[in-house]
Amino acid sequence: MCSYTIGVPDGGERGIRVECDDHGEWEEFQPGYRTVTFYCEGCGLELEVDLRDPADWRDLGERC
Ligand SMILES: [Zn+2]
Repeated sequence: MCSYTIGVPDGGERGIRVECDDHGEWEEFQPGYRTVTFYCEGCGLELEVDLRDPADWRDLGERC
């Protein structure tokens, strides 16, 4: 199983960045979406992230 990092890049706009730790694939999403779909070619999997629940992904990022 792959692990993913979800966080907010420093500076710039308040985009949300999703990265696959295993393959280094990452994609940055602009705010305003309810959910985004991140696809990693290495995993061959799609990950759905709910941006409306900031507490959820912020938790993930800060625990790393
Ligand atoms: Zn991957």
